[in-house]
Amino acid sequence: MMTREELTAVLGAPLGEAANDRELFAAAVEVRNRTVGDRVYLRGLIELSNRCRKNCLYCGIRRGHLGVERYELTDEQVLAAAERAWRSGYGSVVIQAGERTDGAFTERVERLVGRMKTLSNGELGITLSLGEQSRETYRRWFAAGVHRYLLRIETSSPELYARIHPADHDYDRRLECLRALREEGYQVGTGVMIGLPGQTVESLADDLLFFKALDIDMCGMGPYIEAPGTPLAAVEAPFSRAERLQLALRMIALLRLSMPDINIASTTALHALHPQGRELGVAAGANVMMPNLTPEAVRGDYKLYDNKPLQDMDLQGFNVALDNGWGDSRHFALRRLNVCVSAESQK
Ligand code: SF4
Repeated sequence: MMTREELTAVLGAPLGEAANDRELFAAAVEVRNRTVGDRVYLRGLIELSNRCRKNCLYCGIRRGHLGVERYELTDEQVLAAAERAWRSGYGSVVIQAGERTDGAFTERVERLVGRMKTLSNGELGITLSLGEQSRETYRRWFAAGVHRYLLRIETSSPELYARIHPADHDYDRRLECLRALREEGYQVGTGVMIGLPGQTVESLADDLLFFKALDIDMCGMGPYIEAPGTPLAAVEAPFSRAERLQLALRMIALLRLSMPDINIASTTALHALHPQGRELGVAAGANVMMPNLTPEAVRGDYKLYDNKPLQDMDLQGFNVALDNGWGDSRHFALRRLNVCVSAESQK
């Protein structure tokens, strides 16, 4: 693993000249191809609802953002999207929504997971991205058939976390959730925003060290993009949008070099800043993409940030893995194997 100083030096190299990063990206792609292969795995993204009990200062669907038309997909819409993913050979879906912890919601998710498993003969892999929940809820969803969970820390700096969230949002609680997910058996993913107001390249280097220390299985990170009408959008960011894109690509490449066998997403936020953003993410070492399967009528209402792409993803030109299982994290599989081997050797 590179040191904090080495990571900071790469991240802090002059921005603006794409040629500076060519060697870095080529090294990351070589490592990816050698460890997890050169194909891109797909997760069909289903944005279940934009209702949220939280009020993160950067988020376009935060509770206090009154201009947002709130929606909730019907069971039929969710199941139709899941079936489309399965029939298209995607292998798995991601269910994402604002955070809700009430019984009606958690039971509904549990029921929907069971129905998605049934309609696909157990073939569809299911990832959830539904925020902080009780251990009991994580346990029930896992038992229902979910096997991956994405919970972004957004920044590993407790001070910066406190600056971009209201006082009642708790960094330590989020860490607890990440640990609980691991203990309950999930493949665990997290991620950060890149280019936040108050963020430095040293802080981004710390984010990479944090991922390594947490031994994550997957990562979804992208450039910070202001969401109009949110408190954080009024605060000046330290990097231009073009610089944030470049920094995000450097972060992907550095993460691939330090954690070669995890799954890394080429996120929609990259595409929001560049028409070839997803391609650039893959060319920097990412190996996962998430085509949006949310019904088009409500896609515009799940607007976490400005300029979020709403059109269907064009998969032409990508070496995608279709009908090829869940595309699980190799890192997770190896860790499990090591646990089994060490348990056997102690018998
Ligand atoms: S970032 Fe997530 S938890 Fe925070 S307000 Fe937005 S949807 Fe809710």
